[in-house]
Amino acid sequence: MTCFMCKGKNVEDTTTFMCDLGNCIVIIKNVPCFRCTQCGEISYSDEVSKNIQKIIEKLRKSITDIAVTDYKLAA
Ligand SMILES: [Zn+2]
Repeated sequence: MTCFMCKGKNVEDTTTFMCDLGNCIVIIKNVPCFRCTQCGEISYSDEVSKNIQKIIEKLRKSITDIAVTDYKLAA
């Protein structure tokens, strides 16, 4: 797998995903990702992106300001 920005080498890693929904913020810890060793660009697999969307949809109904969750627990 190569970086779509610079074609550098991607390695598996985990990151903290943060999403500002306007009136609230969702933070998901320990999200599996690919990190480019050259430019540091982070990308997610299709499965992980779908799970992130699902987690956000679930959380946005119940939070008012900020939600912090763990990918392993929420996915
Ligand atoms: Zn790159």
